[in-house]
Amino acid sequence: MAPLGALAPTSLQGRLDRCAINTATLGFQQPIGATIDAVARAGFRGIGPWRRELEGEPVARVARHIRDAGLAVTGYCRSTYLPAGDAAARAAAIDDNRRAIDEAVALGAGCFVVVVGSLPAGSKDLGRARAEVADGVARLLEHACDVGVHLGLEPLHPMYAGDRACLNTLAQALDLADVLEPEPASAPMLGLVVDAYHVWWDPDVAAQIMRAGAQSRIFAYHVSDWRVPTRDLLNDRAMMGDGVIDLPALRGQVEAAGYRGPIEVEVFSASDWWRRPVAATLAACAERLQTVT
Ligand code: ZN
Repeated sequence: MAPLGALAPTSLQGRLDRCAINTATLGFQQPIGATIDAVARAGFRGIGPWRRELEGEPVARVARHIRDAGLAVTGYCRSTYLPAGDAAARAAAIDDNRRAIDEAVALGAGCFVVVVGSLPAGSKDLGRARAEVADGVARLLEHACDVGVHLGLEPLHPMYAGDRACLNTLAQALDLADVLEPEPASAPMLGLVVDAYHVWWDPDVAAQIMRAGAQSRIFAYHVSDWRVPTRDLLNDRAMMGDGVIDLPALRGQVEAAGYRGPIEVEVFSASDWWRRPVAATLAACAERLQTVT
C-alpha cells in the first residue's frame, strides 16, 4: 500500500467554488437566512445545514434562498439515532428520519447525513445496537431510494461508540453498505461521509478510502483538525492547520479514490471559533482551505 503522503491533492488556491461550509462551524449564532448570505458572501459555493436551523422555517423557502444565493446543499445534517429502548421508539426514529429525508429532497441535498446512534440508556449490548442500526438503515434506504436521496453513513471516531455512533470505521460502514446495497450500479444510493476528524487515526484509512471510491460511495468529505491535547470530546475540533492531521495527504487519498465533490469545513468549537464573529470564522476557513487543507 502506498503511504498517504505519496498522493498530492489538487490545489485549492482560488478554488473556494469547490469548498463548502457546514453550518455547525459557525456555532448557530444566527438564523439560517443570515448564515446562507454570509457563506455566499465569503465566496463559498456549498452549504451543509442542520435540521435544527430549519425548525419553524418553510423548507421550500430556505431551499430557494440557498439556490438564489448561488449555493449548493452538500449534506443535510443529520439523522435521529436509530437504536432505541423499545420498538415504538425505534419506529418513531424511522418516521422522524423519513421526514428529514423528505426535507433533504426539498433542499436538493447531495446526501442525508446518517449518524447512526449507539447504546440506548441502560443498555450494554453493542451487538444489539449494531443490529438495530443495520435494520434501521435498511428501512431508511428504501425511502431514500423512493424519493431519490443519497444516504451518507458517517462513521464516527470510536470515542463516541457509547452514545453517538456504534459505526466507527470506514470498513465497518462499507461492510454495512455492501450488505444493504450489494453490487451497486454506477450510482449507489448508500455511501459514506468521510470526515477527516473521525477517520485520520485509522491504520486502514487509505485502503478503505480506495475501496469506497472504487464503489463510488464517497458522498461527502468533511475537514477540521485534531487538537492535541483535545479538551472536549465533542466540541473541541481545531481549524485546519491547528492540529495533527495530515490534511493534504488525506485529501490526496480521497481524490485519488475518485472523489470530486465539495471539501466541507465542519469545526465544532465551543470555546474558540463559535465565539468569534461569523465573518471572521468564514475568512479563516477560506484561508486555511487554500493553504493547509
Ligand atoms: Zn462530519
